[in-house]
Amino acid sequence: MRFHVITIFPDIFDSYMNESIIGRAKEKKLIDIKFYNPRDFIRAPKNNYRPVDDRPYGGGPGMVMRVEPLIKAIEKSLSKIKDKKRVKIINFSPSGKKFTTEYAKNSVKKYTDIIFICGRYEGIDARIDKIFKTENISIGDYVLTGGELPAMVLIDSISRQIKGVLGKFESLEEERISSSEVYTRPEVLKYKNKNYKVPKVLLSGNHKDIEEWKKTNK
Ligand code: SAH
Repeated sequence: MRFHVITIFPDIFDSYMNESIIGRAKEKKLIDIKFYNPRDFIRAPKNNYRPVDDRPYGGGPGMVMRVEPLIKAIEKSLSKIKDKKRVKIINFSPSGKKFTTEYAKNSVKKYTDIIFICGRYEGIDARIDKIFKTENISIGDYVLTGGELPAMVLIDSISRQIKGVLGKFESLEEERISSSEVYTRPEVLKYKNKNYKVPKVLLSGNHKDIEEWKKTNK
């Protein structure tokens, strides 16, 4: 899976996308992440000021990301994609369709490339959605300052659905019974004169009982 990220702040991705499971997935070439900065697609005037945003028509606070540099950045990303039928273009919006694990799974099945447009300020000029037939995705009912965190959330969640990305494919929730209540050593933890024990059943070695317990402790 190749992720193409349209962002004016590519540095934001540096640490998260290079560590741990996602970093290893990149090294193993199971995923690839490319960046396209709309700023690079503006002819710099003499004073080198490159506005990627402008005032909104109709008034109101905040700025809107201009359409031309975004078109060029998206076109550049599309030029790198061979199979144009298996590409999805996602624009982020707090009022978009809610992202889910189901969406992540389907994405792995359907696409070889996903383009993320990371809005900033009040968002991007709405004409982008019409031109590129984007899908508007929300990661939750709250407003963030930009689409970079949502892009990382989707890359993380989609990547772990790709075979070979997690240490064991069985680590995927749907491959086994998983519980949000998990324990590791020590068996008994003493903290401020109180003992905190691992549930007995998990130490029993009785797999049937353990699975039962996990089902009821999701
Ligand atoms: N005025 C806009 C909000 C802009 S927030 C509105 O009412 O819709 C700036 C950018 O952050 C958005 O363009 C989007 O890319 C991103 N963003 C903010 N909250 C988000 C969320 N919950 N899910 C996905 N993207 C979000």
